[in-house]
Amino acid sequence: MINIAIDGFMGSGKSTLAKGLSKKLNFKVLDTGAIFRAIACAYDKKGQDEVDEDLLKSIIDKIVVKVVFIGDEQHVFVDDEDYTSELRSEKISSLASKISAKSFVREKYLDIARDFAKNNDCIMEGRDIGTVVMPNADVKFFLTAGESQRAKRRFDELVNKGVAVDFDNVLKDLKERDYRDSHRDIAPLKPAEDAITIDNADMTLEETVDYCYDIIINKINK
Ligand code: C5P
Repeated sequence: MINIAIDGFMGSGKSTLAKGLSKKLNFKVLDTGAIFRAIACAYDKKGQDEVDEDLLKSIIDKIVVKVVFIGDEQHVFVDDEDYTSELRSEKISSLASKISAKSFVREKYLDIARDFAKNNDCIMEGRDIGTVVMPNADVKFFLTAGESQRAKRRFDELVNKGVAVDFDNVLKDLKERDYRDSHRDIAPLKPAEDAITIDNADMTLEETVDYCYDIIINKINK
């Protein structure tokens, strides 16, 4: 199987790059953040504001999390309930970032992600794909761009969705999530030693996709 890893900070354009490459390569994309978000939704249904480790563990021990493709669209089911439409709220974003630091949550996610890589030519995007999930990936990209630029992308995305947001809050939230992701003990966000780091602050989407596509084709042809 051919495996392409994309890691990077929030708002660095991982999903957009993955989708662009998938169109050209006809590979499936696994958005791994959606798995953490679905687990966060399952936890949120219990009505607790803070992360209670015992409660989270008891949920993780019981639930079955499944990724299903309906057409090209990735859906995440928890115990046969499709949570896909509930994954993108700010509350779930923040909760997903907090629960993702727990080892027992990451173990559940790893089984799903590794199984996917084993059975599919795929592009997988997340935070620890090149370092932990697919250390032998054929090509690894690590995307980055400045904090303000990434926050502006996220701000524009929310405004386009009709969500009332304040730029300073988006920037603050981004800094907090970046910090948590890159400073946790288990599977922290960092470039794999053999990853190609791309700062796409001054690149258009097409430029980034074409640049990465050429690298992948060169590698595959070797
Ligand atoms: O990428 P996305 O923002 O949807 O991910 C939600 C959260 O899940 C992130 O803030 C991050 O903390 C966590 N995550 C992770 N490892 C991954 C993908 C996401 O820890 N491979």
